[in-house]
Amino acid sequence: MDPLYIDATGTAIPRPGLVINGERVLTAAPVPVFDPADGQPFAEVHMAGEAECSAAVDAAAGAAEEWAATSPRERSEILRRTFEAMIDQHEALARLITRENGKSLADARAEVSYAAEFFRWFAEEAVRIAGEFRVAPAGDKRIIVTQHPIGPSLLVTPWNFPAAMATRKWAPALAAGCTTVLKPASETPLTALALAEILHSAGVPAGVVNVIPASPAGSRVREMLHDTRIKNLSFTGSTEVGVSLLREAADHVLRTSMELGGNAPFLVLGDADLDAAVEGALVAKLRNGGAACTAANRFYVHASVAPEFTARLSAAMERLHVGPGLDQGNDIGALVSRTERDKVAALVDMASAAGARIITGGQVPEGPGAFYPPTVLAGLAPDSELLRNEIFGPVAPIVSFDTVDDAVRMANDTPYGLISYVYGGAFDATFAIAERLESGMVAINRGALSDPAAPFGGVKESGIGREGGFAGIHEFLESTYIAASL
Ligand code: NAP
Repeated sequence: MDPLYIDATGTAIPRPGLVINGERVLTAAPVPVFDPADGQPFAEVHMAGEAECSAAVDAAAGAAEEWAATSPRERSEILRRTFEAMIDQHEALARLITRENGKSLADARAEVSYAAEFFRWFAEEAVRIAGEFRVAPAGDKRIIVTQHPIGPSLLVTPWNFPAAMATRKWAPALAAGCTTVLKPASETPLTALALAEILHSAGVPAGVVNVIPASPAGSRVREMLHDTRIKNLSFTGSTEVGVSLLREAADHVLRTSMELGGNAPFLVLGDADLDAAVEGALVAKLRNGGAACTAANRFYVHASVAPEFTARLSAAMERLHVGPGLDQGNDIGALVSRTERDKVAALVDMASAAGARIITGGQVPEGPGAFYPPTVLAGLAPDSELLRNEIFGPVAPIVSFDTVDDAVRMANDTPYGLISYVYGGAFDATFAIAERLESGMVAINRGALSDPAAPFGGVKESGIGREGGFAGIHEFLESTYIAASL
């Protein structure tokens, strides 16, 4: 496959076509990809139908045995070269992400760095897949456990991190020795197609990485799930779609991992350092314009500091510039589409009609782009509808609390359990609260925690399984227990 093409503006643009078996496959009627900053089409993408999905599964199944048999060192070196190529093309990839997703260039640059790190981390993990060898407690045999790639894996990713959500799956899958079919989100298909070019240039053999934007998503994914050559589904997206895929996967007892929605509480205790808490709140709320599963969604602030925290957070948000992500002067870019923006606006309007006070923001700006201003709401009732929804935009609802028990109860009062944030002064008390939060991840006195070297994932309806860390590769491995009389 040809090396990545960079256009005159310095933006990586994938060559036309789906990526199937190391080739570009064109379909009859490509569809436009829109720039959320102005609502205008700027590229086209070919969409897979039933035949192309089937061809992608053929390719992944056909390449599976040979790829599984490559040495861990060979796979490791391909992943390492992919990491280096992403760093070489850092700015061009960031610009592509901003074009198709709308996020600010600063957010897109951070995403490319984060996304590339998965290749570096799993290049290191590929050569450290351990088994077991033990004497059975009864002494009658040896217990030997070996690890194997699970086989062709279907990867389905969302639009909010078009690079990182793909690399967080590709890197462990390839490290484990699995071949893949990746279906990116319809709004942001180009980044995954560009990354597939980098992977091939780094030495991935034909058939190991197939990328198929597909429409309609539901039927195309369902068909592939029911193809028994697919051995594993790794999905990142909404809980609603995840639940429907779990039902489908049950038909063949398909192995699944699910990275689903969140509704992160952000607790500020009475003794917290307020400067640090405001700084952390800005990061936790506004990274990616608020369109992150990890975004702080509900702020619970001790009554003694709630007015001060609200005033300082609002003032800090008012200083930020909203506008086209490619303009370096803008801190907050566009949401991915006007549909997504309108959902955010409707949630704020509903909260306001129910009595919440808009401290700052809350007005949809004029113009064609999918912009929404940083917004702070106060005076919400603890059972407000807004607090039950994943906002996915730059909106910070603040609720005050009197006792720590109240804060923990409100924080846990959600079907989700992805991430929680706690800011507090005394470490032992803050840590004790962190341990009571029903979350797969907790950030203490930090506004961000994602790290390819750490296990990312949720409890409750936020998901099953972990990506990254030592656990991530195990989503793509299965074990065999061999009992040996020696
Ligand atoms: P989504 O609507 O669930 O879509 C995710 C992916 O699933 C897309 O590729 C989509 O394709 C596809 N899809 C849609 N309907 C489907 C169906 N019926 N069957 C099979 N596949 C289907 O989610 P999104 O709106 O893109 O992303 C936002 C959600 O992702 C939020 O809830 C967020 O919290 C979650 N998320 C979670 C994590 C995590 O790590 N826990 C990370 C990022 C995002 P189309 O685009 O073609 O519809």
